[in-house]
Amino acid sequence: MKLNELKAGQSARVTSIGGEGALRQHFLDMGLIPGVEVTMIKLAPMGDPMELRLRGYELTLRLADAENIGIERTEAAAVKEQAKSARRPADHPGLGEEGKFHPKGTGDPLPEGTTLSFALVGNQNSGKTTLFNQLTGSNQHVGNFPGVTVDRKDGVIRGHADTSITDLPGIYSMSPYSSEELVSRDFVIQNKPKAIINIVDATNVERNLYLTMQLLEMNVPMVVALNMMDELTGNGGTVDINRMESMLGVPVVPISAAKNQGVDELVRHAVHIAKYQEKPLRQDFCGAQDHGGAVHRALHAVSHLVEDHAERAGLPVRFAASKLLEGDSHIEEQLALDQNEKEMVEHIALQMEAERGLDRSAAIADMRFEYIGRVCDACIIKPRESREHRRSEKLDRVLTGRTTAIPCFIGIMGLVFFLTFFLVGPFLQDLLAEGIGKLGELTERAMEAGHVNPAIQSLVLNGIFEGVGSVVSFLPLIVVLFFFLSLLEDSGYIARVAFVMDKLLRRIGLSGRSIVPMLIGFGCTVPAVMSTRTLPSDRDRRMTILLTPFMSCTAKLPIYSFFVSAFFPRRSWLIITGLYLLGIAVGILVALLYKKTLFTGEAVPFVMELPNYRLPSARNVLQLLWEKAKDFLQRAFSVILIATIVVWFLKSFDFRFNLVANSQDSILAAVAGLLAPLFKPVGLGDWRIVTSLISGFMAKESVVSIMQLLFAQGVERAITPVAAASLLVFSLLYTPCVAAIASIKRELGAKWAVYVVLWQCLVAWVAALIVRLIGLAL
Ligand code: GDP
Ligand code: MG
Repeated sequence: MKLNELKAGQSARVTSIGGEGALRQHFLDMGLIPGVEVTMIKLAPMGDPMELRLRGYELTLRLADAENIGIERTEAAAVKEQAKSARRPADHPGLGEEGKFHPKGTGDPLPEGTTLSFALVGNQNSGKTTLFNQLTGSNQHVGNFPGVTVDRKDGVIRGHADTSITDLPGIYSMSPYSSEELVSRDFVIQNKPKAIINIVDATNVERNLYLTMQLLEMNVPMVVALNMMDELTGNGGTVDINRMESMLGVPVVPISAAKNQGVDELVRHAVHIAKYQEKPLRQDFCGAQDHGGAVHRALHAVSHLVEDHAERAGLPVRFAASKLLEGDSHIEEQLALDQNEKEMVEHIALQMEAERGLDRSAAIADMRFEYIGRVCDACIIKPRESREHRRSEKLDRVLTGRTTAIPCFIGIMGLVFFLTFFLVGPFLQDLLAEGIGKLGELTERAMEAGHVNPAIQSLVLNGIFEGVGSVVSFLPLIVVLFFFLSLLEDSGYIARVAFVMDKLLRRIGLSGRSIVPMLIGFGCTVPAVMSTRTLPSDRDRRMTILLTPFMSCTAKLPIYSFFVSAFFPRRSWLIITGLYLLGIAVGILVALLYKKTLFTGEAVPFVMELPNYRLPSARNVLQLLWEKAKDFLQRAFSVILIATIVVWFLKSFDFRFNLVANSQDSILAAVAGLLAPLFKPVGLGDWRIVTSLISGFMAKESVVSIMQLLFAQGVERAITPVAAASLLVFSLLYTPCVAAIASIKRELGAKWAVYVVLWQCLVAWVAALIVRLIGLAL
């Protein structure tokens, strides 16, 4: 039987994991290995993907991928009763403890003045960002990892000026699967942090420790931060911390990042192990007795075999050995084994497979999970299902229910939109506009009084104040929108949205997560592009960014309503809705084209955790708002400022660089005149229309106002209804405004930004031509 045949509520034992390569490894890393019990929870409302429960957490995967997984039916897994075991004293290594149990006075600390660099590593949703914000306060800055658009956050631990800590992207394993995982792994290997802070979700130790086991192999001083302890103890669970420390060989500190409990102790331990370079006491978790010891012998044999190569390549030996056995080609390359050694490794691996009865990746994953099982049995007492999980189940019955999921989604997004673009956003925008207006007036008066050169006056007032002002007026929208988005993301809802919408987006070569940026695109392309940061794959991210401009943003609405009421008053709603749908339709066509050309290959396999719903922490939300606002303002005052000044210059001067009184004589008009013949085929060959479209590049709202300025007796009289229809379609599809292009440039680079401008104009031109031809034929 295959996993995709399992019905809701049924349980099964996994017998085989088919497929190959990175995806298969990812399944194994997520704990989906032969022998594990899974329970099917439900299918997404559209029938794909499926939601599974295994190892105490929820996972989604597509039916097509589930087809590769062999199972045999079992009765519903009985809830394992765990008696509260009497506390046994455990030997406890005392790592990271200064003084009391573990005198370190004679130790060998790193020289004074060495910066203690930490890497914060953990699974997604384990509370990394929350902990990072607690540790650093506002001493942090956001950047990029070189070469990839993956956020990198660095900071200094509060009260320890000689430290630096980096928040790495969430990963489940040290096997490279997504660009995030590769980034995190490379960071640990290449940047050689002085110590690792491994954050582990105490409510799901079983899966979280899988990463821990691999981090221990890095042989770098490490401390485990056992997070979410509030949730565990709140449900009557406990952890035998000392025993866990002795079993893992590293300090374990129970904390609650959200409640700021235990964080100081964590810092003390972390600083201590980093300073004294106290390495993990164990790296060896394979037992000589487990299943005949096949894995144990193989790992040790390979370790000895490649010891010298690993040292030369700067890789931890044990890590190199286990990756080599798993068949990791990156590591194999770095080790530079000769032919003979490669063959020996292969022989050892084959022998292990034969003795263990599992293939190499599964055998090693199994060895890790087996040890984790022992740790959990010995240390964790988890007497009942948690309140949070029951709450999540109840919420999910509605939010991902067969009939309710999509209405809920539409309702929630509708509410977010309404609040952002119609209620709170415009209110803040007006406030800001008023402020900017006042400032402008003051400046004007000051400049008049100071008899400043009129050209400079015009630059400051018409160029900078108007241009940057119109862009800065986006700021309230961005802040409000990201406020809601971060609530949805941190609470765990966005993961559900991806689950519900995956089937739909898969058709056009994307995965469910892309739906959110696309929807935001209907509000404003700028935050839409900014929000693609959360997409897990580079390919999906880029494709999503290139598609969002097809979603008609709110700034185009004034253009539509002006022309529709002037030319087609009786069918206004029909036409405006039609324009929105046309944007979506063209977007879909372009997506299909991209799928065949620029972005061949599949969207990332959709293997994703559905975390319990959690209350987002206010601090995380505020921090994110601050980051986004700062990011946007930085752009407003660089790229956008320059573009504004250029357009202002073209609009205000003639070729002799004299200030023009009438924009008809400006360079812009001349350029528009030159471009006009290009627009003739689509029926928009008037320089005044071209001028307004060009200024629409600054802000779409200005298209109508500039047109009204240039057409003295009204545009309505000057163009035909067919031309108006072409103009509508052209405005729908042509290049996004400069603020959006600046966001795209930041995410994808200048080349892609230029590409978007040209490509959108081309698509718009073709579409407008088609509309004109149809219009003329009617
Ligand atoms: P990341 O994905 O690892 O960066 O995780 P986040 O820091 O974004 O946290 C995920 C969710 O867990 C957020 O909603 C947090 O508010 C919540 N969270 C983080 N730490 C704790 C904790 O100690 N206790 C509880 N109850 N929730 C937490
Ligand atoms: Mg995070």
